[in-house]
Parts: sequence; C-alpha cells; structure tokens
Amino acid sequence: MIDQKILESLDQEPDFRPAPMVPVGPDDIPVVIEDVPGQGSASELPDHALLPERYKELYVRVDLGGNNQHWGKPKLVERMIDTAYNWWAGGNKPTCLITDLSRKRFRETTGHKTHKTGEDGDFDLAKTLPRDGNFTKAKRAKCVKFMKCCLEAGFSRVLFTDHDAVDTVNAWAELNGIPGRASYAEKHDNHFHVDL
Ligand SMILES: [Zn+2]
Repeated sequence: MIDQKILESLDQEPDFRPAPMVPVGPDDIPVVIEDVPGQGSASELPDHALLPERYKELYVRVDLGGNNQHWGKPKLVERMIDTAYNWWAGGNKPTCLITDLSRKRFRETTGHKTHKTGEDGDFDLAKTLPRDGNFTKAKRAKCVKFMKCCLEAGFSRVLFTDHDAVDTVNAWAELNGIPGRASYAEKHDNHFHVDL
C-alpha cells in the first residue's frame, strides 16, 4: 500500500511531483525510484533512519566508503528488504547489516569486481561470520538461516565461504522447491553476496 501521507501531499500540491514511490518488501516501505538516463530505473535502499517506526531494527544500512553505494535495480532493492524482513520477522539476531549495492549510476561502483549492473548486494551479520573468529555451530546455524532468508526472498544465488553451510542450505532449497542456490566462494567469509 502506498503511504497515505504521500497520497495526501500529492492531493494538496498538484504541481509538486516527487520521485515515484512504490511499495516493496513488507509492502509499505516507500522506496524512491529514479530514472537514470542511459541506464534505466534505479532504486535507493532507504537509510534505516527513514524506516517507519514499526520496522525498527529491520536492518542497518552501512556506508562502507562514503560512496553512497545503496542503489540498484528495483528488483534488487526489493529483495534486499525482503531478505532483511524475513530475518527480522523470524526474531533472529543480530540485526542484519546491508553494505554495498551499487552507485546510482551502476557502472561507477567502486571496490567490487561485480556490483556494476545494479544486480548485486552484500549483507553482514556482526560477530557471526567465519572471519569474525570463533565460528561455532550456533553461528554457522545462523548463517544457514540467513541464507535461507535470501533464497526465500527470491535471490538466485548467495555466495559464502563455508562448505557445510552452503551444502545445508542447498539441501533445504532442493527439498522445498526453492529455485535459488548457495554457492561456495573464497573471500566471502566476512559478508554474504547475493545476486538477482
Ligand atoms: Zn558483493
């Protein structure tokens, strides 16, 4: 449902046209979509400070290099929010961190080999991933749960550096007719990478 306040502001100011807002994820989080010439639509993942009060701690948006790499194709942003929602609504901790997607002009994204088409995003769970040390069974179970949330949100792939966790997620996906898959990848022991 589109935010009532936005509809009202449109009514009151017929000459004012904000960037179009569409409902995504839990279906009542308004996301700005802009048309970038020569590229097409780009959505911005809302900063967590802008989330409605009822979604407190749904996620934390982290700016890694001050580059505002929080943009992506609308479908990417929708699935990032859906993933965070699946995790949060299940009562899981810690709050997920959403780090880099892309710059508004996707191909200008820096610091990633991929992430240049608006179809890639990264998540982190503080003190829970292999690189954080003391990677216990309980922490691996959290990582498995989180990757399930990614695939339930519709991502086709999630990359992670742990064979056991990846195998567990894929057995579950196969059994439940979920089309996405986890994939083992080096250098993904401190974040999860997803792509459309
Ligand atoms: Zn990535």
